[in-house]
Amino acid sequence: MGKILVLDELTANQIAAGEVVERPSSVVKELVENAVDAGSSRIDVWVEEGGLSRIVVRDNGSGIEADDMQTAFFRHATSKIVHSRDLFSIHTLGFRGEALPSIAAVSKLECISSTNNNGLGRKLVIEGGKVLSIQDISCSQGTEITVNELFYNTPARLKYMKAIQTELGHISDYIYRMALAYPHIAFSLTHNDSELLRTHGDGQLLHAFAAVYGTTTAKQMIAVEGEDLDYKLKGYVSQPGLNRANRNAITFIINGRYIRNFTLNNGLLQAYHTLLPLHRFPMAVIQIEMDASLVDVNVHPAKWEVRFSKEQELFAFVKAHVSKLFATQTLIPSGYTASANPTVPAPKQVQEQLKWETPNVSDTRKPSFESYREIDNDFEMKEVRENVQKWIADEQVANQTTSVEQLRFPQLEPVGQVHGTYIVAQNEQGLYLIDQHAAHERIHYEEFYEKFGNPEPISQELLIPITMEFNPTDARIIESKIPLLAQVGVVLEPFGPQAFRVISHPYWLPKGEESATIEEMIEWILGEKKGIDLHAIREKSAILCACKASIKANQALTNLDMMKLLERLAGCENPFTCPHGRPIVISFSSYELEKMFKRVT
Ligand code: ADP
Ligand code: MG
Repeated sequence: MGKILVLDELTANQIAAGEVVERPSSVVKELVENAVDAGSSRIDVWVEEGGLSRIVVRDNGSGIEADDMQTAFFRHATSKIVHSRDLFSIHTLGFRGEALPSIAAVSKLECISSTNNNGLGRKLVIEGGKVLSIQDISCSQGTEITVNELFYNTPARLKYMKAIQTELGHISDYIYRMALAYPHIAFSLTHNDSELLRTHGDGQLLHAFAAVYGTTTAKQMIAVEGEDLDYKLKGYVSQPGLNRANRNAITFIINGRYIRNFTLNNGLLQAYHTLLPLHRFPMAVIQIEMDASLVDVNVHPAKWEVRFSKEQELFAFVKAHVSKLFATQTLIPSGYTASANPTVPAPKQVQEQLKWETPNVSDTRKPSFESYREIDNDFEMKEVRENVQKWIADEQVANQTTSVEQLRFPQLEPVGQVHGTYIVAQNEQGLYLIDQHAAHERIHYEEFYEKFGNPEPISQELLIPITMEFNPTDARIIESKIPLLAQVGVVLEPFGPQAFRVISHPYWLPKGEESATIEEMIEWILGEKKGIDLHAIREKSAILCACKASIKANQALTNLDMMKLLERLAGCENPFTCPHGRPIVISFSSYELEKMFKRVT
């Protein structure tokens, strides 16, 4: 007799739950996605104990028809696609029809929903996948789903849950991204009794950004926009002076879906090349729209990852538009915002709030529709929210006063020198500090980059050739790079089985440092894991030469020297950061100076 059985619905749902419902944040994600798909303009989320004891998601969307209420909890029940061909043009966040039955299988769930505003709706109670009751009730339009005691019937899964802070971290991170993806939806997130986020839903991406990261940070973001035949891009990227130790503050949204993608991140990071120090990362929120057929969202159960049919083009598109932006911007960080208002990353705020919250497992208070209205009419304005509102008002005033067209790099008059290292300069707008060594490095870097692009025919034949010996593996590598080195003017020839000699090199290599420069170029080639192209070797060689040629700190400059230096700097393609990504100029606007000395408040 055969042994194969088709699993019953409940078991199948529990298995699916293993994939779809990994942790409390997965529940929040699925419920919020449904709320977005239902066309809501407002979505409120309450969680208790990191979502393990309770998750409530309430929306004011289309609601679920009374007749559909139970069907919505069947496996593969969805109103979002009909045919398999629809999978190639998905315009909603959900489509698998797996979330509700999976969540219901591993929790005690209540769903209240109404499709109209005449006060009639339906309530469904399910426990561990079994329907306990279904009844008509009165409620307003929208859906409210409460998930109690997640994983109560799957203890093995429960055991893997991390500390409340960690679970809450996942939830808040997800809500922050959704707030950025949907600025026209008013989101709120409350943990136990503290409100962690509230956005306006006014459709302004920068306002949503400010609600998440704070207004000081938001003010340092630059708008970016671009379009080609396939893609449309819109968003904000940080001025290079504003950066982070990790990639967490980078958000890419593809057709309304927050996704994680290595290639997109890289396109962005490459646009910041030489603008950021090593191991520092920008902040960014970038929304990209494309035809649904160009992206496959059906590759990951929780849909965190997607597949692009033209990934390389998309990479180039992101890089090109962000790079283009930097080529036109004045990128001078303010010394005032950097010192007086250090920006506090949002996740830290959450952690701070958690420190003084004592978990209260027995507390079963549930925000009712009534208390919801109270909160609505009379919610406390927290500091962040006040700031965002004040800022929006300030912005409106500022927009009315037209700004004067300014030079990309300001005209500066040197005032003096500090410690033989920094130049102090001024103009109408304020005070500037310039790191003279960094400025020289930038100027030399750009000059050398040009020169390495066209080193012929000025190579210098050496009277006493430089010879270098390597182990057999390295010797092979060097041999294969002889043509590339020749392109930047360094001509080598084999000299015995494992040795080479330099027969000519550009005459303009830093004086007295010629052989050291060439040796360092070769060391770099041997250490470099990635493929080296002409651009990479020009860039590296230029950086090496710029370091050697630049004046070191502690060098007295006359007024005329300083003027010349500033003039040459102004002529650079990027006068704002040295080739290692450190800032060259820092400014204090006259207004900021007045503020620091309390002449204005
Ligand atoms: P999917 O989102 O993949 O369709 P779900 O299991 O998440 O599958 O939801 C099943 C169906 O229930 C949805 O297709 C939708 O019709 C309905 N639904 C779920 N949540 C909501 C909501 N918040 N508002 C309106 N309809 C909803
Ligand atoms: Mg769904």
